[in-house]
Amino acid sequence: MDEILNLSINEMPQTEFDCSCGKHHNFSVHDMSIRKGAIEDLPKMAEPFKDGKILVVFDNHTYEVAGKRAVELLKENGFNVKELLFDTGDDILIPDEKTLGRIVQEQDLDTSLMVAVGSGVINDSVKFVTSRSGLPYIIVATAPSMDGYVADGAPIFSQGYKYSPVAHLTYGLVGDTDILKTAPQDLIQAGYGDVVGKITAIADWDLSVKANNDYRCDTCVTLVNRALDKCFAKAEGLKERDPESLGALLEALTLTGVAMALVNISRPASGAEHMLSHFWEMDYIARGLNPNHHGIQVGVATPIIARFFEELADILPEGTGALCPPHEEIEALLAKGGAPTSPKDIGISKELFHNSLLKGYTVRPRYSIMQFAKDNGRLEEIADKITEEIYG
Ligand SMILES: [Zn+2]
Ligand SMILES: [Zn+2]
Repeated sequence: MDEILNLSINEMPQTEFDCSCGKHHNFSVHDMSIRKGAIEDLPKMAEPFKDGKILVVFDNHTYEVAGKRAVELLKENGFNVKELLFDTGDDILIPDEKTLGRIVQEQDLDTSLMVAVGSGVINDSVKFVTSRSGLPYIIVATAPSMDGYVADGAPIFSQGYKYSPVAHLTYGLVGDTDILKTAPQDLIQAGYGDVVGKITAIADWDLSVKANNDYRCDTCVTLVNRALDKCFAKAEGLKERDPESLGALLEALTLTGVAMALVNISRPASGAEHMLSHFWEMDYIARGLNPNHHGIQVGVATPIIARFFEELADILPEGTGALCPPHEEIEALLAKGGAPTSPKDIGISKELFHNSLLKGYTVRPRYSIMQFAKDNGRLEEIADKITEEIYG
């Protein structure tokens, strides 16, 4: 029971166990390698697909930092490799019909595996296409920027709208800390902010168990909390791109993915802090502006949600707030890793902020501390108070 807690992250693939939560969990990813020099493991990981052709997908930037080496290694080891370069110049790649269509066109009848070299868009696009064409894919991570490497959803665009259809889990993950250290600092901050957000995600999950009778898996909570502790202990080094700190960050992002895959819900990764982030993102997009990175928004939203727990301490079900540290402590953690600490720092206006506190709970039908405040008639009072404290 709960055997997964005794495994290191690279030992977790293909683990199945009966859990103390009463469910049988199964982690179906086949292979993960997170370490210095991990890219050297790519040929071994791809070995079962050697009979067919390997389509390796990258953009100009990811080709330089990892794609080139990935292709070299596969060729040296006798693989039949085809390359797909997205040459976007200064534009950002969007996971829309054009990008997804390009990948489909480059998939030959004898393609047996795709290798996505990148983080956000390349990962999501290859994940989506392979899920529909029934092929496995391996992700070579180039930035510790988000927790979607081990997640079955793929946020993509259709006719201008963003949605997140279910795709599938990766066959393998390569997280080479020598590659991760070339990531831009804002992507590192974003990944770190997304990890900090797990603090209130877990507290919110606990609240929904106590106040709304939701299901919870303590093994997953332990898994995530341990990863957070390890990542926070080394957070100082993120500013200097210390490989060990970057490895701990990618590990925390990956382990949250493992926890999500075990319970088949995103509770271990996403709570009210994500609702605020999504609210801000939708507002920016509706106004034709580029939103901040997802994880940076999640990071600054986390101490805000901690303030909700503080304000509601008098009526929370017994023991609920215990999992949520004071907001000052969370702000200090963000600062330690070099990430912004306040919505003010990232350009969220007072009006948008206040509005998001009032309406953030409507972003998705999921019980959270904001719903709890609403149900208890305290939402407006708390929204006014927090907004005044932060924006004056
Ligand atoms: Zn997130
Ligand atoms: Zn469980």
